Amino acid sequence: VKIRVGNGRVKGVDLGYKVIECEKIVVAAGEGSKYLFQTLDIDIPIVIRRKELYVSEPYSLFIDPLIIDTREDSLGLYVTQTLRGELMGSIDYPEAIDDLTHETTLKHYTVYAKKLVRLIPIMKYSTVMRCWSGNYVTTPDNSHIMGRDPEWPEGLYISTGFSGHGFMLAPYTGFLMARHLIYGETPNTMEPYTPDRFRMGKYVRESLVIG
Ligand SMILES: Cc1cc2nc3c(=O)[nH]c(=O)nc-3n(C[C@H](O)[C@H](O)[C@H](O)COP(=O)(O)OP(=O)(O)OC[C@H]3O[C@@H](n4cnc5c(N)ncnc54)[C@H](O)[C@@H]3O)c2cc1C
Repeated sequence: VKIRVGNGRVKGVDLGYKVIECEKIVVAAGEGSKYLFQTLDIDIPIVIRRKELYVSEPYSLFIDPLIIDTREDSLGLYVTQTLRGELMGSIDYPEAIDDLTHETTLKHYTVYAKKLVRLIPIMKYSTVMRCWSGNYVTTPDNSHIMGRDPEWPEGLYISTGFSGHGFMLAPYTGFLMARHLIYGETPNTMEPYTPDRFRMGKYVRESLVIG
């Protein structure tokens, strides 16, 4: 997939087998955003960090909140219990950068299990039912990127880099981006997050990134 540009503005999206012509393009492709912008020689400063997550068999409810182990050697362990009783959690390990494999590893699980049992000893009797892997698409300040850089071709927009917070931010981001595209509005809840902030050194640092 390539973005087509001509005379300083976007012309369409080249799918390889056909071209979709358009006047505006929003790149909201998560980990793929970086590579789509690379087709235009534009560097988006996002780093892809692979995460693995484990879900246990269900138990009677005994954990109410989301627990985050903030001890220095906990590797950011977090665990919560779903409404079905499964324990779901992860740790920030290992640091897998730009890894698009989406694999899960015994190495990761072993470290997670040890940290979990230290926190909740009875969990040594638990069984993990499934695991999955996904990516945090992170930015230099761990805040999302939305809108456009005036130096980009006209009609090119981005919405990505949610740094592990994209479920929460998705509805409002969609609302803001729609108004931005249709009416040209850049409300003050959007303005700090435009992509030109990196060029101008105007970082919006988010320190609460779990996992
Ligand atoms: C383990 C884990 C736990 C998380 N927990 C939370 C949480 O508790 N709360 C929270 O708010 N967020 C959480 N997140 C983060 C959340 O999942 C992401 O921030 C969110 O999914 C990002 O949404 P997105 O639409 O930007 O990207 P994505 O959801 O990644 O969607 C991008 C889409 O673009 C597609 N795509 C990629 N490249 C191309 C291409 N070249 N052409 C066409 N399509 C393409 C992809 O296939 C994908 O469907 C978690 C993430 C992980 C990995």
